[in-house]
Amino acid sequence: MISASLRRATGRLLDLVLPPRCVGCGQGLVGGAETGALCAGCWSAIAFLAPPFCRRCGYPFEVELGPDELCPACRTAPPVFDRARAVFRYDAGSRALLLSFKHADRTDLAPAFGRWLARAGAELLAEADLVTPVPLHWTRLFARRYNQAGLLAQAAARQAGRPFRPDLLIRRRKTAPQTAGRAARARNVAGAFQVPPGRRPLVEGRRVLLVDDVRTTGATLDACARALKAAGASGVDVLTLAMVVRPIALTSANLRQKDNRHARSRR
Ligand SMILES: [Zn+2]
Ligand SMILES: [Zn+2]
Repeated sequence: MISASLRRATGRLLDLVLPPRCVGCGQGLVGGAETGALCAGCWSAIAFLAPPFCRRCGYPFEVELGPDELCPACRTAPPVFDRARAVFRYDAGSRALLLSFKHADRTDLAPAFGRWLARAGAELLAEADLVTPVPLHWTRLFARRYNQAGLLAQAAARQAGRPFRPDLLIRRRKTAPQTAGRAARARNVAGAFQVPPGRRPLVEGRRVLLVDDVRTTGATLDACARALKAAGASGVDVLTLAMVVRPIALTSANLRQKDNRHARSRR
């Protein structure tokens, strides 16, 4: 407790001495901006996600469709995890920020990302008994020296005052990093994760919030959620910094649903 308040005080003192810098490009921020914020240029390049979205997977909708609305993917093949939220879209504007965090030792970005995660995932964090990251295989952890998902999970948990556990899951085997296609990705990660027997009592009956940097197809997060649920977790939610938003294919079934909704709202 003392160290935390001391850290905060030191942080405030440093803010007075060194002007806060943009977490994206590093340029000095003027006008009393909060440390860890973005400059106007970097801010406008990031596509932050906001409601309305699919209540299950967080897919952003262009128009409000009602609080219980699901996206076509969740209606046809719901994910293993219960709910997912993300801070921003994975695109050209956010890629540099993510890559520098992952590969360029920009661990100093973690507190700012933690604040963003706490805001975007407020609802999920409030209900989480435990916050845990998607694990790296130990050989990768050794090469990279830190698990960026672990830093994010810890920062979000700290921000929201929820318990952080770095070790609920282990990655049993190394998975190929670049696998194209949804089915191939799912095959690639199937059975790759496990809750070690010694951690099962921690997981049983608990609601777990899984944290990662990017959600692409959701195959990795589904594999983690499956392992946690197999170990007795009462629920698994997902919080990521970025999310790949693919355009929804307007199939005839989707269009029919849309027509029905219009008909309902006219009635
Ligand atoms: Zn900037
Ligand atoms: Zn969805």
